[in-house]
Amino acid sequence: MSYSKQHTIGQSVWCSGVALHCGLKVALVLKPAPVDHGIRFLRTDIPGCPSIRANYGNVVNTCQATTIGSAGMAVSTIEHLMAALYGCRVDNLLVELSGPEAPIFDGSAAPYVKLIQKASIVEQDAVRNYLTIQKPLTVSKGDSFIMATPCDEFQVRYEIDYPHPCVGKQQYSWSLKNGSFGREIAKARTFGFLKDVRKLQKMGLIQGGSLANSVVFDDHELLNVDGFRYADECVRHKILDFIGDLSLTGLPVLGSFAIRKAGHALHSRFLTELMDGKGYATSKPLDFESAYLSPEVSALA
Ligand SMILES: [Zn+2]
Repeated sequence: MSYSKQHTIGQSVWCSGVALHCGLKVALVLKPAPVDHGIRFLRTDIPGCPSIRANYGNVVNTCQATTIGSAGMAVSTIEHLMAALYGCRVDNLLVELSGPEAPIFDGSAAPYVKLIQKASIVEQDAVRNYLTIQKPLTVSKGDSFIMATPCDEFQVRYEIDYPHPCVGKQQYSWSLKNGSFGREIAKARTFGFLKDVRKLQKMGLIQGGSLANSVVFDDHELLNVDGFRYADECVRHKILDFIGDLSLTGLPVLGSFAIRKAGHALHSRFLTELMDGKGYATSKPLDFESAYLSPEVSALA
């Protein structure tokens, strides 16, 4: 029997870019890491260069982005990079950052996918465990919910409903197969509404926000002159955010997820309940020959 193996990257790669919320220019280096290392973030701008594991138990803030932190250090807006790593099936990596937040680039995960592909993805000599959903779990708040059920694939069905003529009700169903992350999800950008901009700026957020890194709507229309990348770009980006947050389980996941109008806070609550030891999920290796997964890595269309 041949089991699916863990992956890291073949060489270090770096880039820099503006961070969405703090507005600072931040340098980012992705470095290969040994088996069972997981994904760790290291702050090079803090004395002693503290690091932290990308894990749901380390989430300290879910306002407008996902932030992980521990004593004296935090790293925010990690979800797009985490989604790219998940989509490219990278298990072990060290992420060095020169500031408190990952760069936003164009607001999607596509620049991160390109960077990971530039570094090349290499198989490691260790079995890869999968988190498999064992029994249904629903977490809800008002009319928002996340429902997980057992499935031998990784599937997400997401529904949003914004009272705006350019968005409205959108639904998208997606499963991770043969490069589908790169083709269908990675390029979907983060989005926001002009009416919320001043309030968020007063809160110290979106200091680096612009039409170059966000899809923005006024009360009536889309402000980005180039339009959407997909007609349903908003709901696809919500799936991107969910994948990034779900990856904080530390393992690739097999299960079906039906989600309505969720966000980082509900994602975080869901992960805590999923992983609380009540038997909703268990980890095990996956027989590669019988798996739905192909050895191909995610490719951008
Ligand atoms: Zn996002």
